[in-house]
Amino acid sequence: MNAHPDLTGRTALVTGASRGIGYFIARHMAAAGAHVIAVARTVGGLEELDDEIKAENARTGKGEATLVPLDLTDMPGIDRLGGAIHERWGKLDILVANAGVLGVIGPLAHIEAKVFEKVMAVNVTGVWRLIRSVDPLLHKSDAGRAIILSSGAAHNARAYWGPYAASKAAVEALARSWADETKNTPLRVNSVNPGATRTAMRAQAMPGENPETLPHPSEIAGNIVPLASPALTETGLIFDARSKSFLSYQMPR
Ligand code: NDP
Repeated sequence: MNAHPDLTGRTALVTGASRGIGYFIARHMAAAGAHVIAVARTVGGLEELDDEIKAENARTGKGEATLVPLDLTDMPGIDRLGGAIHERWGKLDILVANAGVLGVIGPLAHIEAKVFEKVMAVNVTGVWRLIRSVDPLLHKSDAGRAIILSSGAAHNARAYWGPYAASKAAVEALARSWADETKNTPLRVNSVNPGATRTAMRAQAMPGENPETLPHPSEIAGNIVPLASPALTETGLIFDARSKSFLSYQMPR
């Protein structure tokens, strides 16, 4: 594992923690000392994560997990999650809105309504609902940090990627609006473009590609974790996880 900021005593909500990039963000954050609230639908993936975090804790004494099986299209469920975090911890230090779906790659005129609506529900509406649910808890932290997973597709809308590209452009806009609203508070909000990463989503998008040519999600996740550092000053930017640098897409007002 990479060197990470010390997250001892910090509580981190990570969505999409059952596999892929979110699974490794959760592991890295726990290894850095955080109590990870791990959200996804697949209980087996969450339990595997819990086993790994327990094994790491046995070695180092660091990190814990609370598992939350939840479908992020369940909007009242997202509201209840915020309430449960408030009851147990009274605050939240880190939000990682990582869960996402690709939908179907195909011409816009052929996309079924239910596919478009699902992509928007998970990638946009669910993230907004999560923001609404945990914003007061992040403001209770002395150094609240929000990390919103975007994609290069938000800026390079290619043929057949319409629903996913639109959803990632929308979620980046949400992140930047939230960052602007909160810029005079300790809360720091940034988007991340992980770049092509060896996960199930990438294999679905590019079935002919050799996954061995892509970075492992553990490596990409390790590059993302410093955005949770209490020392971070940047907000409202897009972080490129491959080059480990911030990009600014700020337009003149
Ligand atoms: P994976 O498909 O490997 O993992 C997606 C995660 O999201 C899973 O844990 C899944 O859990 C969770 N998820 C999906 N739908 C729901 C839902 N309805 N409710 C709760 N959780 C859900 O994806 P990646 O790890 O590749 O992607 C992570 C993020 O990075 C995404 O936002 C993606 O758009 C972005 N990204 C990825 C790139 C890549 O090359 N891999 C490139 C650019 C961006 P479960 O199914 O158990 O619910």
